[in-house]
Amino acid sequence: MTHRVRHTKQRAAILDTLEAMNRPLSLDEIQVGARERCPGIGERTIFRNLKEMMDEYLLVRVFLPGKPTLYELPTGEHRPHFICRNCDQVFQLPGETPEVMSRYKAPPEFEIDGEDVVFFGRCPACKK
Ligand SMILES: [Zn+2]
Repeated sequence: MTHRVRHTKQRAAILDTLEAMNRPLSLDEIQVGARERCPGIGERTIFRNLKEMMDEYLLVRVFLPGKPTLYELPTGEHRPHFICRNCDQVFQLPGETPEVMSRYKAPPEFEIDGEDVVFFGRCPACKK
């Protein structure tokens, strides 16, 4: 029982961090936020919780070239991402990713099996 309560607290700290920051976060960023909400929470505990939460589809991973693995809340949609050229932070944008793969004529020697639309620019904070 005690274990279960702690477990829930740790998960809540991670989910709360992601909701509060409202953008995909790296493991380091999640650690900072989770420790503010749940002091004493260890790196291995956070990592284990992230893995379990991914297995249960409470979290999904985002892989973007040149970025550490990021974690975000699942939306059920394939959404585009945005990288701020000024602060380098990654954001998830609303709405479905526009269909790109079918519009692009790939050279026949390449086999394409995925796409990820990333926009660049300035985030709301940097635009001010
Ligand atoms: Zn920015």
